[in-house]
Amino acid sequence: MEEYTATERPAPVLAVVIPCYNEEDALPASIPVLLDIIDRMTADGLVDPRSYILCADDGSSDSTWKLLVDRHAADPRVKAISLAHNRGHQYALLAGLMEVMDHCDAAVSIDADLQDDPLAIIDMVRLYRAGSDIVYGVRSSRKTDTMFKRTTAHAFYSFQKVMGLETIYDHADYRLMSNFALGLLAQYRESNIFLRGIVPQIGLRSSVVKYSRAARVAGESKYPLSKMLALSIDGITSFSARPMRWIFFTGLISFILTLIVAVYVLISHFFTATSNPGWASIMLSIWGLGSLILISIGLVGEYIGKIFVEVKGRPRYAIRQRLL
Ligand code: UDP
Ligand code: MG
Repeated sequence: MEEYTATERPAPVLAVVIPCYNEEDALPASIPVLLDIIDRMTADGLVDPRSYILCADDGSSDSTWKLLVDRHAADPRVKAISLAHNRGHQYALLAGLMEVMDHCDAAVSIDADLQDDPLAIIDMVRLYRAGSDIVYGVRSSRKTDTMFKRTTAHAFYSFQKVMGLETIYDHADYRLMSNFALGLLAQYRESNIFLRGIVPQIGLRSSVVKYSRAARVAGESKYPLSKMLALSIDGITSFSARPMRWIFFTGLISFILTLIVAVYVLISHFFTATSNPGWASIMLSIWGLGSLILISIGLVGEYIGKIFVEVKGRPRYAIRQRLL
């Protein structure tokens, strides 16, 4: 929907939020790069000079925190929070975003390893100033990811879609959100969070910036296959009751098959001389009961699905503008 903003938005106080888990190797490279980009944008009048970086240390076990303390002392534009223990990327990121929410006009989230081209921040800010409340960073190429990472990641996107979870294709958590969008995000009070699923639900005016994904600046990936799998399952099960509905449909289909099997079993029972005693009744009860059990579980699942949605207590709507 087109929004009628009279003029371009003023230069925002920008917060760059970085979740960090054991990033002592990557941060010394990435913090100066990001500060440099902020400096350039400030010089161009694109962002407010009070713009800053906030690192959310996700309970690192290496010297990440010590490094952040030093950087903060050297340049107060490097701010940091430290999580009590390792809660995972999504939580560290959310903690960072909620921390900056009331202290910025817009926040960009980016990984510590700068695999996502940090220069795209400039385009994100331009789109924000032109009126977007959410700007998604979308990977136009994954050449530098390993073949394995690329195929598994794409398989996850497709699988999530089949399971009823709508996400932005090839968008990870590199995005800009206005503080208005962050305020709406704060209303999602569920404990299992999957930001890539929630943010598109917020709505608002959004746009996309394409960039190509580079190799990690330093250090190892903190997202092995097991964590990717866990993230994907979390995403699906906290956004969709579709897997439960599938149980119901499986039950329905096997019930229809039961009717076909019943015809076959009864015909062979009455018209074939060689039929074994008890075979017909066992066949019919296995098929009949099996499909009834599946249908019943599926029905119970439908109710659990409703409870699941209620329990989340998500906002039912969000008002963007008022003319009163
Ligand atoms: N990360 C985190 N907590 C974790 C794992 C990762 O805060 O438990 C951070 C990590 O420091 C990085 C970002 O999440 O800034 C993405 O991790 P990584 O680059 O290892 O993932 P990949 O790019 O390999 O998917
Ligand atoms: Mg990475």
